[in-house]
Amino acid sequence: MRVGCPKEIKNHEYRVGLTPGAVREYVAHGHEVIIETKAGSGIGMDDGAYQAAGARIAGTAREVFEKSDMIVKVKEPQAAEWAMLREGQLLYTYLHLAPDPAQTKGLVESGATAIAYETVTDARGGLPLLAPMSEVAGRLAIQAGATALQKANGGRGILLGGVPGVLPAKVAIIGGGVVGLNAAKMAIGLGASVTILDRSIPRLRELDDIFNGRVMTRYSTIEALEEEAFDADVVVGAVLIPGAAAPKLVTREMLSGMKRGAVIVDVAIDQGGCFETSKATTHSDPTYEVDGVVHYCVANMPGAVPITSAQALNNATLHYGLMLADKGLAALAENEHLRAGLNVHKGKVTNQAVAEALGYEL
Ligand code: NAD
Repeated sequence: MRVGCPKEIKNHEYRVGLTPGAVREYVAHGHEVIIETKAGSGIGMDDGAYQAAGARIAGTAREVFEKSDMIVKVKEPQAAEWAMLREGQLLYTYLHLAPDPAQTKGLVESGATAIAYETVTDARGGLPLLAPMSEVAGRLAIQAGATALQKANGGRGILLGGVPGVLPAKVAIIGGGVVGLNAAKMAIGLGASVTILDRSIPRLRELDDIFNGRVMTRYSTIEALEEEAFDADVVVGAVLIPGAAAPKLVTREMLSGMKRGAVIVDVAIDQGGCFETSKATTHSDPTYEVDGVVHYCVANMPGAVPITSAQALNNATLHYGLMLADKGLAALAENEHLRAGLNVHKGKVTNQAVAEALGYEL
């Protein structure tokens, strides 16, 4: 199959759908790989690195779209991109169609077969192509929180780990899933005192086993949330209710009980955020203050570290990407987890949640 990878064109997107390492794997499977010139510049990979991996370089995105049977990307196609898709072509990328009627219409009209990373499943009911970005965001959340805590950045002026003879900062993590686990690892690594709150008792048990006493776990009730938020120097929001907007667990009223200069890092902002006072921010202007509490609410946190994020994403997408390239549509028939990724096929929406959200018939 001819597998193509254009340069990402969404604002401030530096990741790339195929790293040179992934290209080598596709080439080893007998596929021809076409990469748009400078597609890897955001991760420090020039055209020469791709040629050395066996790819052919195309001068324009149009050439990539015209010559490829399958397009591999990172972000959802922009209008100029979906206009270049054609019937029978495979598209393998993040799509997030439910809140995006324009893109959905564009994909339906293209006749292409679109597989969304975020709805591919695994045998344990997880979302394996979403998890690596949650790992990145969880780890970054603590770096962001530690930076925002510095006095010159509006924070309380407390060091997460303290020093010998001085108590460390307190970090409360709401939601102990992939983001929460990774945030906790970073926070205890820096020497902070950490509590994770979750609604799932089995998950709290797992976390207790993983951290073996180095992290406190607490069942997430209004009272527990309030007590932990009031006591914390950093509160990380990491809840997810699949398919729903994040619940507003920390209200504006609760902010008044928090320490002045405490920091909120709302990782769940891409689902609307779990603090009532959260609103999405960007890497160029990541924080703002409400009632003396610093808010960090960047919606695409992994974009800050594209070298790590692109590598982690490629590690996760390669397995199913090769399956698609090797077998084409037959791969979807054979593998239920990959099939769960199918969102649009031959002019029809094929994902139930997207169809319901946007009023398409399945
Ligand atoms: P996950 O499903 O692995 O974990 C979510 C956890 O939240 C679960 O353990 C669940 O039991 C818990 N939870 C649900 N309701 C709760 C409540 N009321 N109180 C406490 N815990 C509760 O999800 P994840 O992969 O860790 O993702 C968490 C959030 O981070 C999602 O909204 C995701 O979209 C977001 N995210 C954002 C970025 C970003 O750049 N901002 C990047 C990656 C992920």
